[in-house]
Amino acid sequence: MRKRKNSFLPEKRTCKFCGNIFQPASRAFRQTVCFKVSCQKARKKATFYNWKMKNIEYYKLKDLSNESKKTEIKRVNEWKKKNKKEYNRYMKNLMREKRNKNNA
Ligand SMILES: [Zn+2]
Repeated sequence: MRKRKNSFLPEKRTCKFCGNIFQPASRAFRQTVCFKVSCQKARKKATFYNWKMKNIEYYKLKDLSNESKKTEIKRVNEWKKKNKKEYNRYMKNLMREKRNKNNA
């Protein structure tokens, strides 16, 4: 067996979610969350949510002009507030469609 050199370890950081200090894995330079299961779950949820939000606005608005973008954003936001459940379901379906399209 070959002897492995001590790989470089990034500095310790504070977990974004629980606030604990942790030692990131050597490969995960951008890691901001500790290894606790609950924190990992929270991280996944947060990343997915951010991604989803960014992409939805992008896909929905890229074909519209500036003026209709503003109107559309306003309309969607108002609708979102009133129909949270509907909205979540709609998004789920939308994302599933996108995934299927990307895989095809
Ligand atoms: Zn944590």
